[in-house]
Amino acid sequence: MSTAALPLNDDERAERSARIRADLTRQRLALLDRLVAEGAGDLAAQLETCGQATSLTCTSCGDRHPIETRCKRRWCPTCSRKISFDRVVKYSRRLQGLKWPLWVTLTIRNSDDEKIVEQLKSGWQKFKRKKIMTAHCQGGLWALEVTERGNGWHPHIHAMLDCKWLAHNTPPPHHLDPPDVVSEKLEYAKGELSQEWGACVDQDWAIALAVRKRGDHAVRELLKYAVKGSDLLDSLLPIAPLIRQIDSGRTISTFGSLRNGKLPPEADDDKPKLACTQCGAEGAWLPSEIGDRMFGPPVARMVTYRNAAQ
Ligand SMILES: [Zn+2]
Ligand SMILES: [Zn+2]
Repeated sequence: MSTAALPLNDDERAERSARIRADLTRQRLALLDRLVAEGAGDLAAQLETCGQATSLTCTSCGDRHPIETRCKRRWCPTCSRKISFDRVVKYSRRLQGLKWPLWVTLTIRNSDDEKIVEQLKSGWQKFKRKKIMTAHCQGGLWALEVTERGNGWHPHIHAMLDCKWLAHNTPPPHHLDPPDVVSEKLEYAKGELSQEWGACVDQDWAIALAVRKRGDHAVRELLKYAVKGSDLLDSLLPIAPLIRQIDSGRTISTFGSLRNGKLPPEADDDKPKLACTQCGAEGAWLPSEIGDRMFGPPVARMVTYRNAAQ
């Protein structure tokens, strides 16, 4: 019997997002407690600014819209979801426009020391300057991800490269090559990549994967959180030093053709704007403490608005 999930109706979808939101809030509060326990009060204080009830006032009709504050930390379970969504909106069109999208994952040996993140990132900077990259890759977007499954921090780089063939000493397959020659070339190319990357992170050899991938799923996978809330919570290692390491630099960036505008610009128009449920105006919001001063108390102005509309 098929177990394929049926599409959810509106109620089920709302119920599911409420459940996900509640779960992420629980994670955020647990993370806050954990940071307090680790003596990282400054980091805990950042999370404390998240999820506070406040409101926006519609500048078109004066209606109030309740919202929650966001701390916008990349490691906040609630905010990282929204940050990831915004990144997909921002970069999706450019990534979909790549001629030769090559999905690359570059890893380094796990370590209990959070400095491993810095080593990985400096290795990536070295790798980008190598012939294998400068001669074969037009540009791309990279993102840092750190996981922890009980055996140390495992930072790795995911990148979507505009690259037809990622090897310098191995020639690309020719369309007349028999299948065994093609397999051999792919195998050599894989070895070359692992060696070149390994040298950048002071290892003889390091796991480096390259596969052809495109489409929405790949873009979402690339632009997801830098570190998962549940990985932080489950880790037996101190998490505050790792969080500081993540906060100290970039976790995502474009380079080459993706940066210098040869491809379609960011799709700001694609970003959905919050619409007023009262008058339908889009993106016309002010924080209520300012909006209320301009429009008067909410109840009085609603009466005025309704009278005016009659
Ligand atoms: Zn309105
Ligand atoms: Zn937050």
